[in-house]
Amino acid sequence: MKSFVGLGCIIIFVLGMANANPLDAQSAKPGIKKNGFGTTKDGQSVNLYTLTNRHGVQARITNYGATVVSLLVPDRHGKLADVVLGFDALDGYLAKEPYFGAVVGRYANRIAKGQFTLDGTVYKLVLNNGPNSLHGGTKGFDKQVWNARELGENPPALELTYLSKDGEEGYPGNLKVKVVYALTDSNELKIEYTATTDKDTVLNLTNHSYFNLAGEGDVLKHVVTINADQFTPIDSTLIPTGELRKVEGTPFDFRKPTAIGARINADDEQLKFGNGYDHDFVLNRKGKGPELAARVVEPGSGRVLEVFTTQPGVQFYTGNFLDGTVQGKGGKAYGQRSGFCLETQHFPDSPNHPEFPTTKLKPGETFHETTIFKFSTAP
Ligand code: BGC
Repeated sequence: MKSFVGLGCIIIFVLGMANANPLDAQSAKPGIKKNGFGTTKDGQSVNLYTLTNRHGVQARITNYGATVVSLLVPDRHGKLADVVLGFDALDGYLAKEPYFGAVVGRYANRIAKGQFTLDGTVYKLVLNNGPNSLHGGTKGFDKQVWNARELGENPPALELTYLSKDGEEGYPGNLKVKVVYALTDSNELKIEYTATTDKDTVLNLTNHSYFNLAGEGDVLKHVVTINADQFTPIDSTLIPTGELRKVEGTPFDFRKPTAIGARINADDEQLKFGNGYDHDFVLNRKGKGPELAARVVEPGSGRVLEVFTTQPGVQFYTGNFLDGTVQGKGGKAYGQRSGFCLETQHFPDSPNHPEFPTTKLKPGETFHETTIFKFSTAP
């Protein structure tokens, strides 16, 4: 009998070992670790940096596109899951769209007809989205290899820098961009963007992570709150009309917690244009520092994401154009609405809308914006 109990214990122990997640809170050491992540088609080698905090929360970031590759956060029972879409290897990221986890620029989102006038000069950009220019053009910041520097272990932080040359993708001015990712012990991924230019230019920087707090399935049951009384309606090519419209009485009213799926298929012209939510929300702001933009709760796992930012807007995008053709991590096909983005940013097409907060940067000025993705759990 005794030997049966002993054998049972050994079996349970071995099975337990086999199930142990090598990335779980006990085994993960706080700090920053660098590994190779492959080589781009033009022969540049790229690395993968693993940032781990004291709770075992872990962010993997590559200097290809300054991209968040994975983000492991606990559910209400402490079980970690990867809550961002992406790929296991560099190849997936090299195969262009749709910007999973990347920093997008020089201008995040669309510029109408790929054209704007600055100081009396007309600048023409690459058109890569129907009649418009999207996310910086055909080779935006998401497809560049950034220089990386480990900033420290407590909290683990990574600095990524990139020089966008005068004329790149049609934009004026040599723009020096710096993005710092830090993973705090309060389970926050903090992103700080700074930039300077040697000629008047426009810029709009954001992180394009697609989140799924359940770690799988679609995101329709995620419950979203957005701190915005207004949004910027779009035309059929997803360019803001210039109007700031009240969310009240529309499917865009997320001032009270509402499931993504509750109204996404409502008979609404704006939802039809976006094929779902693909809209910029005008954040209610009081001061200058990071303020709460949005809160998302995934009821099944209890995972909560809160987004704080200094930026004036957030693009809420519900993965409407994902159609299952992209195979992501573990060979998983990413179907429509398998992730959502909360892209903190200036309003789309601002260079053509003087009534929107300005996106102009002049020599001698420093662009500085902060966004914090904070993770916690709800009962
Ligand atoms: C845009 C979408 C676009 C997506 C590409 C979002 O920021 O708003 O319209 O399809 O990026 O991944």
